[in-house]
Amino acid sequence: MHKYVIMGMPGCGKGTQSEIMCQRFNLVHISVGDILRWNIKNHTKLAARIKRLMSTGRLIPDEFVEKIVQGRLQEHDWNYGFILDGFPRNENQAEFFLESYDIDAVIYIDVPSELIVERLSSRRVCANCNATYNLKSHPPQQTGVCDACGSRDLVKRPDDHETAIRERLLDYEEKTLPALNLFRRKELVITVRGDRPITEVQADIQRDLNLAKYRIKG
Ligand SMILES: [Zn+2]
Repeated sequence: MHKYVIMGMPGCGKGTQSEIMCQRFNLVHISVGDILRWNIKNHTKLAARIKRLMSTGRLIPDEFVEKIVQGRLQEHDWNYGFILDGFPRNENQAEFFLESYDIDAVIYIDVPSELIVERLSSRRVCANCNATYNLKSHPPQQTGVCDACGSRDLVKRPDDHETAIRERLLDYEEKTLPALNLFRRKELVITVRGDRPITEVQADIQRDLNLAKYRIKG
């Protein structure tokens, strides 16, 4: 059983690294962002609540996100483990998480912020299946076509524009770095440099987590 949290600024490559690890070690990728987007796309009650909160300019409260994560983890479809992505986002959420769950490690992918801005501007997401691409570092095999599902609907997320990106980076530094530091104090964090090719970053993660013997394929 492997229970990980993956952290890093938006655009650090944690989605891509999580997907690779899930395939190789049979883990389940639990992305809070994907859960929220799925709800919005499918017009669920949860989505209606999120929209109501956001329309009043309020942040989504911690308890709300914690419930989503708790609910998802309770599905117990993760026989071999999970990688939690997009949670915790702040110190309160991290404290809640540590009180409620045992985790094996926090994977922190460290990328300089100038590179993040460049990367996010060239990020595209499949509107159909949420697979993520980068026109520079990780383009789809066939231009404009999703490798995973064949959809031709590869889009830029509305928040992947420079001003919005810089705001998110600032927000990350203010709110999420304290959560990371809390995990550091518990000696749970492995840090890998993310400004390198995907395969090298993945190799570092596997080495630091001693994962070689668990590899099932790929
Ligand atoms: Zn797709």
